[in-house]
Amino acid sequence: MTTNMTVPVFLGDGHIDFQERPVPRVTGPEDVLVAVEACGICGTDLNILAVPPAHKATPGIVIGHEGVGIVREVGTGVTTLQSGDRVVIAPRLTCGKCSYCRRGLDNQCTNYRTIGTTADGAFAPYLAAPERALFQISPDVALDDAVLFEPLSCVVGSVKRAPFAAGDTVAIIGGGPMGLLFALMYRTLGAGRIMVIDVARSRLHFAQELGVDLVANPAEDDVAGRLRELTGIGADIVVDAVGNQLGMAVPLARRGGHIILFGLRPLEQISVSQYAITRHDLTIHGSFVGLNPFVQTIQLLESRRIQPSVLVTHHVPLKKLMQGVALMRDRVGMKVVVDTQNFG
Ligand SMILES: [Zn+2]
Ligand SMILES: [Zn+2]
Repeated sequence: MTTNMTVPVFLGDGHIDFQERPVPRVTGPEDVLVAVEACGICGTDLNILAVPPAHKATPGIVIGHEGVGIVREVGTGVTTLQSGDRVVIAPRLTCGKCSYCRRGLDNQCTNYRTIGTTADGAFAPYLAAPERALFQISPDVALDDAVLFEPLSCVVGSVKRAPFAAGDTVAIIGGGPMGLLFALMYRTLGAGRIMVIDVARSRLHFAQELGVDLVANPAEDDVAGRLRELTGIGADIVVDAVGNQLGMAVPLARRGGHIILFGLRPLEQISVSQYAITRHDLTIHGSFVGLNPFVQTIQLLESRRIQPSVLVTHHVPLKKLMQGVALMRDRVGMKVVVDTQNFG
């Protein structure tokens, strides 16, 4: 095996520099060395690389957390994986010791690290990660399905929050990769009708191609009016995959309906009719990543009940990471995947 690799190092202020680094090694007993096959570009990566940044990452690290790879070497204490196994990454490394971890709320761990933001990530040919961050997945799952494991896991965790019955109407605000993963997930769960709302026509077109029942553009359409034409009363469940759309979500929900807040916009304040929430018996669920959704996510992918590869529009070699980021930022691409074994 080669001893060095050229990787994109995050320098802060939207900058990436390609540097030669040693291939990481298995040092601790729990370490696993993974040859990364591919890593998806996430909205989080776009936020990390924004100026000013909209998501924290430690300068000097390699970013990327939506990786798929093959185990090459395991530490002496590793019991669930062996060389040759294919794995996906659950990037948040929780402490297991804080008050939240001890309550089973490990998505609220107050002392966590994350592969790809505070620890070296998967936009690299090789990654060393602790065994607990890696989940085995069948080599029969298509690469572009497996690469969406981490974002899909967030959706699997999120849909658990709001009660759902087959036949329910779901309105999703945001037609990017996450919003469309919600659409695919709710279709798998048996939603009656699915509506996708976005201001970008290209995204609405993409959603229509996926077969959602109704799309609407708040810049052009009376969104609540169109939803009411479809359902009479509004949506049973409204998902905000954007992060600042509670004001739109409230009038879309039927009385007694549920709103899932999923998107993250840390700097934004919004205004909303508290009166309508109370008067219409709405329930609002804040939903941050997922609470141990990984096993179910693997099963959804291995059974092909969901094939999120329909969202992958582009592949780029590692050297073209920033071009891939631009494809997503400019909304030319829906989901862009970096082929990490191909430097380009
Ligand atoms: Zn992600
Ligand atoms: Zn913790």
